[in-house]
Amino acid sequence: MIIDAHLHTSGRETTGEVLRTLDDADVEVAFLLAPFLTEPYSLEDAGSLRAGNRHLSRLVEGHRDRLVGFAVVNPLHPEAAEDLERAAALPGIRGLKMVPTGWYPYDDCAHRVYEVAVRLDLPILFHSGIFIDGRSGRFCRPSFYEAVREHPGLRVTLAHLGWPWCDEANAVGLIDRINGVEPAESQFRFDISFGPPPIYREEVFRKALDVIGPRSIQFGSDRFLPCSGAHIRRAIDEVKQIFDEIGVVQADRETIMNKTAAEWLRLCPAP
Ligand SMILES: [Zn+2]
Repeated sequence: MIIDAHLHTSGRETTGEVLRTLDDADVEVAFLLAPFLTEPYSLEDAGSLRAGNRHLSRLVEGHRDRLVGFAVVNPLHPEAAEDLERAAALPGIRGLKMVPTGWYPYDDCAHRVYEVAVRLDLPILFHSGIFIDGRSGRFCRPSFYEAVREHPGLRVTLAHLGWPWCDEANAVGLIDRINGVEPAESQFRFDISFGPPPIYREEVFRKALDVIGPRSIQFGSDRFLPCSGAHIRRAIDEVKQIFDEIGVVQADRETIMNKTAAEWLRLCPAP
C-alpha cells in the first residue's frame, strides 16, 4: 500500500479524476493540499486561500478513506488563525500546509496559527528548504521549525528533507533520538518529496535513513493535480530505484511508503 503524503491540488481537478489518477498510480491514500500555487489562488490573497480550502473540502468530502484534506493559511494575514478554524470545520479537512514566505516559522504570527492547529489536532506539513518562488528559501531553514516544540502535541512534517539543508533537517530529527524520543512520539517527520536533483538523491536518502530512520520518513510525490497516474507513478519509481541502489530492506520500504504517514495522521494504530 502506498500513501502519497504530499500531493498538490490546482483548483481545476474533480473528485472522479483524482480517484482515477490514484488508482492508476496504485496510491491508496493521498494527502491533498489546498491550491495556492496555481492561479487564481495565491498565498498573498487570503480570499483565494479561503476559496481554495472550500474547493478542497468539496473535493475530498465523502472519500475519507482515501482523501485527506490539508488546508492552507498564511500567518501574515491578520485572520489566519480564524481562517484555520473555519477551514477545519469543513468536511474532510484534517491537516494544514504552510509555506513560510515573508514570515519565519518562529514568528508570533506563526505561533498563533500553531495554537489553533494543536488545539484542533491538525498536523502541519511545512515546506522546508529552497522554494520555487526564488525568494523565500531563507525563511524555510529546517532549524527554524524547532519553534513548534513550544507546542507539545503538535505534529509536523518538513517537506523535501529541507533540501539543500538536509544535514540541518537530519539534525532536527536526530535531537529527538539523542534525547530518547521514539519516532512515533517525535513532533517531527520528514518527507522525501524531491527537492534534491538526481545527483544528490542517493546521498541524501542514505544519510536520512541512517540518521533519522524510516519511521520518521514518509513518501510524497509533490505532483500537481490534475495529472495522470503515470506522472505520480514516476515519482514512486524514482524512490524505488534509490531503494534498490542503496539496498533498503522491504520492511523499511513499507514504513516509508505508508506506515510513517499513516501513523502521523493517525489513520491506523501505531505499528
Ligand atoms: Zn509541494
